[in-house]
Amino acid sequence: MKIVYTDNNATTRVADEVIQEMLPYFGEFYGNPSSMHTFGDQTAKKIKEARQRVADLIHADPEEVVFTSCGTESDNSAVYSAINACPDKKHIITSNVEHPAINNLFKLLKRTRGYRVTFVPVDKKGLLNLDVLYKSLSDDTALVSLMWANNETGVLFPIAEIAQKIREKGILFHTDAVQAAGKVPIDVRTSGVDMLSLSGHKIHAPKGVGVLYIRKGVKFSPFFIGGHQEKGRRGGTENSVSIIGLGKAAELAKAHLPVMDTQVRALRDYLQNQLLEKIPSCSVNGDLEKRLPNTLSIGFDAVEGESILLMLDREGICASSGSACTSGSLDPSHVLMAMEVPFKSAHGSIRFSLSHYNTREEMDHIIAALVPVIERLRAMSPFWKDGKVV
Ligand SMILES: *Cc1c(COP(=O)(O)O)cnc(C)c1O
Repeated sequence: MKIVYTDNNATTRVADEVIQEMLPYFGEFYGNPSSMHTFGDQTAKKIKEARQRVADLIHADPEEVVFTSCGTESDNSAVYSAINACPDKKHIITSNVEHPAINNLFKLLKRTRGYRVTFVPVDKKGLLNLDVLYKSLSDDTALVSLMWANNETGVLFPIAEIAQKIREKGILFHTDAVQAAGKVPIDVRTSGVDMLSLSGHKIHAPKGVGVLYIRKGVKFSPFFIGGHQEKGRRGGTENSVSIIGLGKAAELAKAHLPVMDTQVRALRDYLQNQLLEKIPSCSVNGDLEKRLPNTLSIGFDAVEGESILLMLDREGICASSGSACTSGSLDPSHVLMAMEVPFKSAHGSIRFSLSHYNTREEMDHIIAALVPVIERLRAMSPFWKDGKVV
């Protein structure tokens, strides 16, 4: 059966061009980039090129790019570095819709290290309450960490606007841009963030490689203590193959930005509008405008997201209920709860996340499959009667 893959916010297919770029470094060129010989230097040169390509994607200086093992490591090392930089400050700020890599870390710091944590709320459209954010800034605040784009709904936070306010107060600002990269333009110069996280496997590079951008002049204390790799900012022999792949993926992501904004957006909008038209009692989660072009989170009243996914899976369609990281628990996602999405539709919410590999035919396949799936599930649902929610 042909697979229709619309779970790109969970992970992406490694691009063929990326595989081609990596292959020689799996086999022939296995030198350690830190070695003193020409053989190792070949790897070092290629890593340098990858660093430049990643820098180009986010308009950074290559020296500001540190390679890590994943988005989660980038998030964790940014947060620990920030709190180590100002040990006397005991207040940290984030939102209540972050990825677990930030959300669970902030909860841990609250529980075990005595930090006062402000979880800034979002409104019903998933937009950040800026009033609460700005009022919570204080002399005791060590760090603000806010995601650029939400992995479940695709909702965008106004990072440039926020960063300016936070920098005026001299507080460190980190953003998790894992979902934003390759989908919307990122410019670290104009957005003015101090640190920014990326992950390879969300932009068609392999799993197990990430990036932490650290603005020049920001004091950084490493999370991994070891050798002098990454200018002492991250010990451990470089994952050269994956880094080289990530470099190529970053180059492709930059070239594909216009495609995201036109072709992928049009496919997403087509899927969204067809579903809204053909299926009663369903609604889109999140702001329709301030949203990634590839993401559609949509709730169907009186049915269960997990059941929808299982039935779509039988049609070869890969989608997700909220976040891959929270699947397996029966609670509605913390993101939809934070947005006060009504229980009956939060439970029936699923996420389609597209890439430039998707086609119009695939969208038609999803639409044709989903309409009868919802009808069948509602026919069995105790919460649905005579074409209405009860
Ligand atoms: C996937 C994701 C991460 C984690 O990245 P990994 O490389 O899987 O550790 C962090 N933040 C967001 C918003 C994500 O979507």
